[in-house]
Amino acid sequence: LQRLRARLARSNSAMGQGLLSLLSRGGLDEQAWEDVEDTLLTSDLGVEATNELVDSLRTRVKVEGATDEATVREWLRADLLTLVDPSMDREVASSRVDGRPAVVMVVGVNGTGKTTTVGKLARVLVAEDKDVVLGAADTFRAAAADQLQTWGERVGVPTIRSDREGADPAAVAFDAVKGAAEAEADVVLIDTAGRLHNKVGLMDELGKVKRVIEKQSPIDEVLLVLDATTGQNGLRQAEVFSEVVNVTGIVLTKLDGTAKGGIVVAVQRKLGVPVKLVGLGEGPDDLAPFDPEAFVDALIS
Ligand code: GDP
Repeated sequence: LQRLRARLARSNSAMGQGLLSLLSRGGLDEQAWEDVEDTLLTSDLGVEATNELVDSLRTRVKVEGATDEATVREWLRADLLTLVDPSMDREVASSRVDGRPAVVMVVGVNGTGKTTTVGKLARVLVAEDKDVVLGAADTFRAAAADQLQTWGERVGVPTIRSDREGADPAAVAFDAVKGAAEAEADVVLIDTAGRLHNKVGLMDELGKVKRVIEKQSPIDEVLLVLDATTGQNGLRQAEVFSEVVNVTGIVLTKLDGTAKGGIVVAVQRKLGVPVKLVGLGEGPDDLAPFDPEAFVDALIS
């Protein structure tokens, strides 16, 4: 227990120091490697990826006989960047396809930032001169449709919704896709509900929304919203949602706080789809394309 306490205390101080200063302490002794591990773990990179990274780095240091921290730091950075895979296509579907609007579904656990993301994304697309329609298919939460409509008004795009609380989300999604087609819009963004505590209900509801949309149009993009502050839970959420819908991209929200969001590396790997966007605050301009280099720099800073 004492050893564990000592390690915990060290790991806390390691967090404050940051990884780079650990490496720059000089000799890469056992302690330094442990601290590197702890720092990667507190970035939510996960045990598996952390072990792999540190093992391969240690082997390389041994084989190549490197001792200077700048070299080791560069190797770690390169390995992390490979994990994040900068070659993935991170474009969000937002242009008409085969004479119809692109259909984008936004899914995720409630509270992760779905509605906010839809609003911010609409703003980005409007700035690109796109005709956008919003669909408020989160009919479970009373205020969700109002919140989305407020975003719509702020950004200057129409919101298709039901006035009835608890209305059939699939019906609203259907109406939104239909309305967007009639308006000859470029893209329709559909907000959905995500009550993870009732997994069966969530599956049924989301599955139905998907099926009903597909009666009318293919779905071009399914963005899974993950909250950077929920840590390792994100992987489990990704697994649950990908059982029901074909996730094509990840949005990592709340990256403006202290969380590093390393969990998305594991999620990208597991689902084989890229992080496309990051949320950097609650305001309308706080959405950015995911930048692998900046993300890796933040992970190890
Ligand atoms: P939903 O239930 O998934 O639709 O989540 P909301 O869009 O309602 O967001 C939940 C809360 O998180 C709200 O208070 C948002 O303002 C906040 N939020 C969403 N995205 C971000 C972000 O990128 N950074 C921060 N700091 N807050 C966010």
